Amino acid sequence: MANKTEITLEQIQDFKGKYPKQLWYLFFIEMWERFCFYGNRGMLTIFMVDVLLLSDKNANLQYGAIQAFVYAFTFIGGLFADKILGFQKSLLWGGILMISGSVVLGISAEHYFYYGICLLIIGTGFFKPNISTMVGELYKEGDVRRDAGFGLFYAGINVGALLGGAICVYVGKMYTWDLAFLLSGGFMIVGLITFLVTRAYLGPIGLAPIPAKPTSAKRNQWMVYAGSILILPGIYLMITNTHYTDIFMYIIGPATLMYLMYEMLKLGWQENKKMLAALVFIFLSILFWAFFEQSGGSLSLFAKDNLNSDLFSLNIDPNVINNSSNSLFVILFSPLIGLLWIWMKRKKIEPNYFVKFGLAFLFLGGAFYVFYVNRFFAGADGKTSLLVFTAAYFVISIAELFLSPIGLSLMTKLSPKKLWGVMMGLWFLASAYGQYVAGILGAGMASPDKNASATVKLNLYTEGYHQLAIYGIITGVVVILVAPFLKKLMREAD
Ligand code: GLN
Repeated sequence: MANKTEITLEQIQDFKGKYPKQLWYLFFIEMWERFCFYGNRGMLTIFMVDVLLLSDKNANLQYGAIQAFVYAFTFIGGLFADKILGFQKSLLWGGILMISGSVVLGISAEHYFYYGICLLIIGTGFFKPNISTMVGELYKEGDVRRDAGFGLFYAGINVGALLGGAICVYVGKMYTWDLAFLLSGGFMIVGLITFLVTRAYLGPIGLAPIPAKPTSAKRNQWMVYAGSILILPGIYLMITNTHYTDIFMYIIGPATLMYLMYEMLKLGWQENKKMLAALVFIFLSILFWAFFEQSGGSLSLFAKDNLNSDLFSLNIDPNVINNSSNSLFVILFSPLIGLLWIWMKRKKIEPNYFVKFGLAFLFLGGAFYVFYVNRFFAGADGKTSLLVFTAAYFVISIAELFLSPIGLSLMTKLSPKKLWGVMMGLWFLASAYGQYVAGILGAGMASPDKNASATVKLNLYTEGYHQLAIYGIITGVVVILVAPFLKKLMREAD
């Protein structure tokens, strides 16, 4: 490892221009990982309903459970990376597991579905939080270019999500699901090769921490590798029985908070104020993702059954739109939103982070209102407008841009460096809870009847979206009203 550290952290962080070149490497690595992740995510519920013959209700629940575990393991992966493996080794191990998962699904998704998914869960856990933390390490504390860096990184996430989300579901529907799952793994290989080729430029960023007893370091690392394989049957049990998922979710959140409180005891009041602000953002994000993640669950099934395939006279598969329009809008509009913040900052009218989160909820509620309104465009066959559906995705994407990239940046801004891994993990653990609740909400809207007509499904789902619209808007208003008080907590991080 030592010879990889020729470039120093100072040299990396003293970069000229807007972005360090390492950011571009991380951009491409994450892009291909997200291709794999969103490629798989966009196929899950459809595959479960069409091939595994689950009802919509059960598919929503299983989707929520799988996604909850994916994100919960990002928390665990972040923790092990911080303490034992380092970010780089975690990334490599995570990538290998993700590729293995895709290969297992590629052999026969119908027979080995849950085995492949378990590997993907653990793999994403080791990969996802650690690459985001490495982005944070490219910047010195207080470097004003940090938000822009995360903005660019976020665009990379979405280029991958766009391509993977669109291509995999298309290949799955037109050819075979096995091929589509295999394809997602193929692109993960590209991501991993990109990492291997460029890792020397990361210098000391992400190397394994230097342990107090160097002799035990290797042994601990091997224990992490072995442990992540040994835990596979446990995960299998938990995702196939959503009751166990419930128990897991009841335990992991409170346990994590207790651990964090223990860490916070070692900090001073000034640092803890910022940590409290970070926790408020984390709690808000749970609610945000619970609504937003209907995207891979109920909205995916809605797209399959209730949408026509006509968009501006083009014939497009509605699931391709469901899986990729969000990313497309994020890519197109993230530079504009970035410019908007810069312009507002110059005029001294830039809203603070809490107000931005509040606005995110208003847009989120607005988007679900558009999903709801779509019911009025339906024909007698229960199929409705793909255009209105796409417009709702535009609104939800603006909501995402007000919250998600900012949240990533905030985690590294509000916490002391030694807690970055944990905080990034916690940010994703909030997504786990969001996903879990998303599955429950989606199941609550879905008809338990496998043979329900398209019109019945349309009415049930859109009524659910109506409720989400109302709660989203209420939350937005409340957050904006209390923002001035919350802002006091994080004053120093501005
Ligand atoms: N779309 C983003 C990503 O994949 C955020 C997802 C999340 O945190 N729930 O990284």
